[in-house]
Amino acid sequence: PPEGRPYNTPDAWLKNRYGIGVWNADALENAFAYVGSKQRVNEWLTRAQTLIKELPDAEATRDLLNIETSEQGRDPDVADLLENAETAKVEEKDAERKRRPSRDVHPAAIAWAALVIQFFVERLQTVPREGRPTHLRLALMKLLEQFSFRDQIARPIRNSIEDRELPQAILNYNSLEALRRAFVAAIESIEIAATIGRPEKERGSPSGQPAGGGGPAAIKLATFLEEVRRCLSSQSQVFGAADRGGLRVLEATDVRGLRFRAVFIAGLVEGGFPLRASRDWIYPHEERERLKRYGLTLEDISPATLLKEEHYFYQSACRATERLYLSRPLLLEDDSETVASYYIDELRRAVAPLKIESVPIRRDYEGNNLDSASTTNELSVALVRQQERHFHRGEKRELQSGPRIKRLLALARNDGFVSNSALRRIEIERERASYLFGPYDGEITDPNLLALLKQRFGSDFVHSASGLSVYGNCAYRFFGLRVLKLEPRGEAALDLQAIDAGKLLHDILRRFFEQHRRQPLNELDREQLRKELADIADRVFDEHERVVPPLNKQIWKIDREIRKILLDQVLLYELEIQHNSSAAGVVPAYFEVGFGGIKSAVRDPHSIQDPLELVRTTFVGKEAMKISGQIDRVDVAADNTLIAYDYKLSTGSSTDDMRSGRSLQLPIYLEALEKLILPDHPIAGGGYYVIRGGNERRNKGLHRAQALEYSGIKATVNSVMSDDDWHRIREEVVAKIWDFLDHMRAGHFGVNPSEKDKTCRFCDFAAVCRYDRYRIDRKKQRPIELGNAW
Ligand code: SF4
Repeated sequence: PPEGRPYNTPDAWLKNRYGIGVWNADALENAFAYVGSKQRVNEWLTRAQTLIKELPDAEATRDLLNIETSEQGRDPDVADLLENAETAKVEEKDAERKRRPSRDVHPAAIAWAALVIQFFVERLQTVPREGRPTHLRLALMKLLEQFSFRDQIARPIRNSIEDRELPQAILNYNSLEALRRAFVAAIESIEIAATIGRPEKERGSPSGQPAGGGGPAAIKLATFLEEVRRCLSSQSQVFGAADRGGLRVLEATDVRGLRFRAVFIAGLVEGGFPLRASRDWIYPHEERERLKRYGLTLEDISPATLLKEEHYFYQSACRATERLYLSRPLLLEDDSETVASYYIDELRRAVAPLKIESVPIRRDYEGNNLDSASTTNELSVALVRQQERHFHRGEKRELQSGPRIKRLLALARNDGFVSNSALRRIEIERERASYLFGPYDGEITDPNLLALLKQRFGSDFVHSASGLSVYGNCAYRFFGLRVLKLEPRGEAALDLQAIDAGKLLHDILRRFFEQHRRQPLNELDREQLRKELADIADRVFDEHERVVPPLNKQIWKIDREIRKILLDQVLLYELEIQHNSSAAGVVPAYFEVGFGGIKSAVRDPHSIQDPLELVRTTFVGKEAMKISGQIDRVDVAADNTLIAYDYKLSTGSSTDDMRSGRSLQLPIYLEALEKLILPDHPIAGGGYYVIRGGNERRNKGLHRAQALEYSGIKATVNSVMSDDDWHRIREEVVAKIWDFLDHMRAGHFGVNPSEKDKTCRFCDFAAVCRYDRYRIDRKKQRPIELGNAW
């Protein structure tokens, strides 16, 4: 609706939410990427059609993909977002790119993007693929008009443009002008090319029109565009008339008779200017002369030319009345070192006893010396740097005094050399570099926002086990993900993404085990079970394929087969462990048991709507905290003893991860089983069940040493512990969760990744958090003395 009118119908709200019916570049880009932005238009449209048709229908897969964005879906573990999350190296950036968001694009958004694309296609198709250059130019200009190109550029200026927007607006205008000129230049060059090679009498007017009229023959649109592109790149823009007080750049041959107070001669290196006589043994001067007669011209190294170079050098050097600057680069583009020209020494000898001063100059301006600043920009940099150096330890002898710098900066600000926004940014950087976590490192300090946070994370808020773990990994990431609800843009990928693979494997295992609830599998026909599992896998993959048509059918086929092999291995492993624990009668009994209203159709009927409640005593009485979650699988023994499992794609978390709050799911599941879901059952432990593993798939978790007969896990692995330790770790975890809640309410969302760069590996917020390990470590070293909560 127009500005000021609320979205008073669900349709209007949805349209606004997904940017439908309007030019919303972000929403459109999301849809393009989701369908696959690297596809050809026809393929894109076909795939988009399939997605639009299938997305709303395929209920089961729809739920797996969490398409319903208005409700909170089940979160995948951070580590499960990538198959190789645990093994990928910290600096491996590719892994991140393969991620896709947990939420999918709404079918209506895809439909709208398809309409926009079709509109573009239709317009683009009106431009002839071949024609005379003038006709092609007209067609292209018309196309640009249809896309309101000119209007888009002019609009900001029409609406009373602000000072800071002016340069951009003018630049846009200049670009439009440059494009027009490029069209004209391209037509001219094509016309000239058309006349070359024709007999003189056929060449008509100066514009190259042949005598018979009609202009140059038709050319391909691609050729014309290529020429326009070339003309654009060879254009140079002239801004205003030459400044008499400015620099004059002249060639050595042009300086004769002129005089300047200062002359700069650049590029004084051996082999550069001035070229010095050197004997070329392969092609000496005489040989070159002979080759020239046969039409092969090599570089002229005749003594006369070299003498001329020398002459030009001395002539240029003598144009200076006060100062002469001779410069050379120390390194060339390929990093090879240069040798100073022989003529510098020659000059040194010639002017003796006067001295030539030699000063190495860095590429950027250091700002050490105010007097060396030659532009207002350099002066500003020098002032800011000098002021900054006053704040730090170190040598200050070269610096101007603090009050003087302050006064100069005030003057610079008054005269507009240093903008207010630059000073503001300096303040922010200074604050960031301090010893405290401040508002620019994730601390919320605004009282209104703090009140909102307190309200949001009040007693009614239902936390999720995975959300709390995100906070334990990095509070700032939690802020981006859960408070601001930012999401990365998803891009359709050629292969099955880890996040989808994880969901699909979970679903296949759930369907398979549900058919054999509380049945000892090792008593059934092994081959029959293998076939059954493969059939279920095929069904689930088919459903997925309908909803997410593969970009590449062959890769998808291979992906499916690889996943089926994995599942087969899981089944064989499962048969073995059931055999080993058959004495205790342990069988898989519950699958995807939810608590706390996790929205998911694929949940066990024994799921519980109520959330887990943790209770603590505070100054003002008892306080409860609600947590939701979903347990992948619970096995039950003949004597009702339970073991909880959390499926993992590659590896589980360590006890350290749990105690530090990085991986809270398993301890929370144990609490939920004990207090909420199956309160009368004793618990043997909880562990990770690795889908892609070898023989030791269940070595991590929290297993009671006294109840190993239920799991069959070796007593020597680290996750096996005494009952005391088992209870202690779980208590520590609960204390940690309360700690997290207090910090959330207090607005502590510091850029403080729990495991430094390792935590940041696959994070989508790296571009905004500006994490710098050394800066943050310094803050963490002095938390208490400065009263910092961190
Ligand atoms: S990149 Fe690292 S510090 Fe930044 S938000 Fe992500 S995990 Fe936190």
